[in-house]
Amino acid sequence: MNTAPMSTARGLLAAALAATAFLGGCAAGPDPADHATIGTYTEPPLPANASPVHTDAPLPSGTEPECGDPTASLRPTGSGRAARGPNIDAIRARGRLLVGLDTGSNLFSFRDPVSGAIVGFDADIAREIARDLLGSPDLIEFRSLASADREKALQERTVDVVAKTMTITCERRKKVAFSTVYLRADHRVLAMKNSGITGITDLAGKRVCVVSGTTSLDRVRREQPAATILTVPTWADCLVVLQQRQVDAVSTDDAILAGLAGQDPYTELVGDSISAEPYGIGIPKDADDLVRFVNGTLERLRTDGTWTRLYQQWLASLGPTPDPPAPTYED
Ligand code: GLU
Repeated sequence: MNTAPMSTARGLLAAALAATAFLGGCAAGPDPADHATIGTYTEPPLPANASPVHTDAPLPSGTEPECGDPTASLRPTGSGRAARGPNIDAIRARGRLLVGLDTGSNLFSFRDPVSGAIVGFDADIAREIARDLLGSPDLIEFRSLASADREKALQERTVDVVAKTMTITCERRKKVAFSTVYLRADHRVLAMKNSGITGITDLAGKRVCVVSGTTSLDRVRREQPAATILTVPTWADCLVVLQQRQVDAVSTDDAILAGLAGQDPYTELVGDSISAEPYGIGIPKDADDLVRFVNGTLERLRTDGTWTRLYQQWLASLGPTPDPPAPTYED
């Protein structure tokens, strides 16, 4: 008897259809028959909700909207227990900080294999906010978010903050607010070792995995319009399709790619920085008290050594520890 729940069955069907469409749509890319040289095989299904980006889909507009320096944020007024404001008070009344993040992002927010707790750079930054706001890093509730759902979760206030490798952009600032920059990432490329791929220029005619609803998707489409793009819901999905050779590369922030490379020694980061990706904590628009509060916590982390300790704990594979990013304040 088939006991698979309907949603699973539907997911598999959708994945199978997407697989057919994507693999069939590769005629413009490398010849899938290349694989035949390594023997007969059955193509594994793509992850649920995987979707090819059709090459005739309109490219994202060439110019991003202007908003001055998008990384400028509100000056902290202190992050101690004395800080007050409508949003701060509401979180204290609830007694828990609701944090939206990815629960499968190695290095940033993922399950500790032994304890099962969500750990990583983003998870720990969120815990520090809870520590200052509520007196304990454990008064926190993590809510799993796909990249494409970050702005919506803040607009609908299903979370208090988003701590998910979120690049600060003028486009996003129309919908949500951001803290000061807490990590500077760079957009790069991940490929299989010895693939011959050395950067974004080599992705012309190749298949590239990118997550939908990200700055990475727009960037790859603009910088390498000759790539065949597959979008999936999470970066972990991208690692799977790379491992299954359903794509030739993954392209996003080096910090995220380092987490994928750490899970597969046959992959490597290649090429120079394609763009700077400054990360901020996402906060609902107009929650100025919370923005100032979070900026106070980030100020503490930069000066008391916590930021450096967290970087060394989680992100050492990115190279030597840099100085914490200097904040820019708009008032
Ligand atoms: N930094 C990119 C963005 O904010 C990708 C990060 C992610 O998908 O989590 O869109």
